[in-house]
Amino acid sequence: MRPFEYVSPTTKAQAVSLLGASWGGTEILAGGTDLLALMKDDIVSPKRLVNIKNIRDLRGISSSPQGLRMGALTTLADLADDAGIKKNYPALAEAAIEAASPQIRNMATLAGNLCQRPRCWYFRNGFGLLPKDETGNELVADGDNRYHAILGNEGPAKFVSPSTIVPVLIAYEAKIRLEGPKGKRELPLEKFFVIPKSENEREHDLGPNEIVTEVVVPPVPNAKIAHYEIRQKDVFDWPLAVAAVALKMQGSNVESARIVMGYVAPVPWMSPEAEQALTAQPLDQETAQKAAEAAVKDAKPLSHNEYKVQLARVAVKRAILKAASGGAA
Ligand SMILES: Cc1cc2nc3c(=O)[nH]c(=O)nc-3n(C[C@H](O)[C@H](O)[C@H](O)COP(=O)(O)OP(=O)(O)OC[C@H]3O[C@@H](n4cnc5c(N)ncnc54)[C@H](O)[C@@H]3O)c2cc1C
Ligand code: SF4
Repeated sequence: MRPFEYVSPTTKAQAVSLLGASWGGTEILAGGTDLLALMKDDIVSPKRLVNIKNIRDLRGISSSPQGLRMGALTTLADLADDAGIKKNYPALAEAAIEAASPQIRNMATLAGNLCQRPRCWYFRNGFGLLPKDETGNELVADGDNRYHAILGNEGPAKFVSPSTIVPVLIAYEAKIRLEGPKGKRELPLEKFFVIPKSENEREHDLGPNEIVTEVVVPPVPNAKIAHYEIRQKDVFDWPLAVAAVALKMQGSNVESARIVMGYVAPVPWMSPEAEQALTAQPLDQETAQKAAEAAVKDAKPLSHNEYKVQLARVAVKRAILKAASGGAA
């Protein structure tokens, strides 16, 4: 690890003023479960680390008639343990308890989870986010791409968006709040994730001197919500495919649906095709299967990851059927 300056502001404004206006010089440190690994591997080498853990305004979970507010520093363990979340947003509590290990969940923060960098092994080994060889050939397309994207992979970005919490938050219609030198802004969580087209872009709509301050979720909609993860085995590793669904019902038919897949694309992947396939339909095996087929209709697997198409299809179908039968366990 290279030498760096370490600063611990106590207010959001101080933190913003300590961050640089371009990427490379400064990084925000929250729980450190991702950033410190990147620094040890020399993938990220900031000259200044801005520790935000002493900023009280970034802490806390609160519920009100306006919905749920989770401060940026809320840990995954807090999310999994909070009585209000377990009662009103059980699929979120379930996603949190399934992520990583107890040790990591005690350190890992919500904002860090949203801003964690891709697990792509080319990126983690120093070849960049859009890895190319000296002659400009894409390394992932021709290389070991077994864990890479099957959707949204037409451009140079082939990594998959790494959070298992984000798809379920998007299903719950979460919004993210940010603060930077130009003030505050709020956006639907799905808009926070972008597919970079060049190596100097990041995969988030986040300025180098902006801080994620909180995530808000509207009051629990009258919807059936569930998420489903497919992992190689039941250990603290990253999954192969994730699906989260929110189904608003009218009688026994689906009035509208929100279907989000994780680990299939460089961004959390919303599927209007699957949503359309469910709309005005009854919830049963047949419609779940049709929606699952629609979700992967446009998949373009790479040379070594065709198996992920079936996994994504199964994840969507099982998430729908899980929601139909009552959601989180
Ligand atoms: C073994 C292992 C298994 C894992 N399994 C899962 C899993 O199943 N599902 C899953 O979702 N995740 C998983 N993770 C990832 C883990 O959840 C993240 O590493 C963690 O949430 C990051 O949070 P942090 O607070 O430690 O972030 P840090 O490491 O401190 O920061 C991560 C990134 O976010 C930025 N950042 C942090 N806070 C802010 C902020 N407020 N505003 C702007 N930028 C910010 C940092 O600058 C950095 O770039 C796993 C990690 C490990 C090591
Ligand atoms: S092996 Fe266990 S203790 Fe070691 S870093 Fe991973 S989670 Fe933490």
